[in-house]
Amino acid sequence: MQKDKQDAQVAIIGAGFSGTIAAVQLARRGIDVVLVGRGDQAGKGVAYSTEDPAHLLNIPAAKMSAWPDRPDDFVDAIADEGFGPEDYVPRMLFGRYLRRILDESAVTLVERGVVAVARSDDAWTVQLADGRTIKAAALVLALGNQPPDALPFALQLPERLFASDPWGAAGRAAIAAAVASGGDMLVIGSGLSMVDVALSLDAAGHKGKLIALSRRGQMPRVSFPLRSEVPSSDPAPSGSLADLWRWVRTRSTEIDWRDAVDSVRPRTHELWRSLSEVDQRRFIRHARPWWDIHRHRVAPQVGATVKRMIKSGRMEVIGGRIKSLREMYGGIEAVVRRRRATEADAPQQFSVGINCTGPLHAIKHTNDGVLRSLLDAGLVEPDHLGIGLKVDDQARVIGAARLWAMGSLGKGRYWEIIAVPDIRVQAEMVADSIARELNDDAQS
Ligand SMILES: Cc1cc2nc3c(=O)[nH]c(=O)nc-3n(C[C@H](O)[C@H](O)[C@H](O)COP(=O)(O)OP(=O)(O)OC[C@H]3O[C@@H](n4cnc5c(N)ncnc54)[C@H](O)[C@@H]3O)c2cc1C
Repeated sequence: MQKDKQDAQVAIIGAGFSGTIAAVQLARRGIDVVLVGRGDQAGKGVAYSTEDPAHLLNIPAAKMSAWPDRPDDFVDAIADEGFGPEDYVPRMLFGRYLRRILDESAVTLVERGVVAVARSDDAWTVQLADGRTIKAAALVLALGNQPPDALPFALQLPERLFASDPWGAAGRAAIAAAVASGGDMLVIGSGLSMVDVALSLDAAGHKGKLIALSRRGQMPRVSFPLRSEVPSSDPAPSGSLADLWRWVRTRSTEIDWRDAVDSVRPRTHELWRSLSEVDQRRFIRHARPWWDIHRHRVAPQVGATVKRMIKSGRMEVIGGRIKSLREMYGGIEAVVRRRRATEADAPQQFSVGINCTGPLHAIKHTNDGVLRSLLDAGLVEPDHLGIGLKVDDQARVIGAARLWAMGSLGKGRYWEIIAVPDIRVQAEMVADSIARELNDDAQS
């Protein structure tokens, strides 16, 4: 890996799993590629830069190879650490594996962050946070999820009392502050990010209580160990959300519901594309909360820790809404109304809070400089659902020259494009698509 060389055939913005593996795939095809990340997440991104050993992968090691054609690569890489294919290993091991792949590649890494991009003549100009620029013939956006919208009821609170994002420095500081004070912590949201916060608090010996609040008060379900034998059945039907829903429910009565949900997974892209826009919107509005907690599950050990915390009274998951949130006695005071309750609970004191409501939904609300510059210049358009960018089936941004968008930016087209098994296939496809295009160019 080289550092800080400028200008290349391809620039990739975002050095998480998507950007890193796409960059290495391109370098393996002999293409000059510069990968632009920010902070110290290069090669690891948001999910795998945690150094907290309590944060585990949510799928077994056997499914986490970076390469579609070498399924045992990650398992081989961690064999010396005493882990096997069925283990849900600490996420930091996967981060180190990715960083090693990047270090051993011919990719150039620039860790400056990008504030804007522009298209001029036949090239993309990437504006770095330190004022310098990079020019490239092709550009790949691998920005990951956008941080959630600010919560209106928390706007008046300083970041030290209410962290707006669990993944940044403020999120880590909020956890440290809760542990140091021994006070209670309020988490808005009850999904995978909240579970990470709970694990960090537990591992650090937090003495207070964690209250997780979400509309329905539902948490991610727990996975079971890797299984290979699932009785076959008719395939899930395409074209109608109602039929698909009925199929999953019926199948869940015949076999374990986890197997029923997982049997839809290999065909998620095809099934999603087969639904009408009305059905896709219906899914997002009504079925998504159910899908998220059943499909994106936690490791069995993580489930056991959460259960222990709840049983011992150190954690409570509430379905309801915040009525008010304000600074009080050096911490925050929250008034919560529980789901179906006619009156709010008595005000509760917390030392800190964190917004774990999950990624930004409407892409047009993004504050990211890269996306803003592209959207504002009309170089990209939101997809038909407004949740990502308009891309084709090779992840090329529709209407833009030599621009590809990976991972969750393609949610509208693919829906499930956030986990390693999906993204590694996409990275290979994007590298092939770019190589083909640059090659055609060289020959014309
Ligand atoms: C807590 C958590 C646990 C997960 N566990 C698993 C798991 O066990 N298995 C699995 O398959 N999937 C898991 N996932 C899904 C995970 O998101 C994907 O596996 C994958 O890491 C997504 O990578 P990405 O590169 O698309 O996004 P990200 O990891 O978000 O990387 C995007 C990167 O782009 C950077 N960036 C954004 N804007 C700019 C800019 N303007 N300039 C420079 N850099 C920029 C960001 O800082 C970030 O580092 C998990 C996700 C989370 C959040």
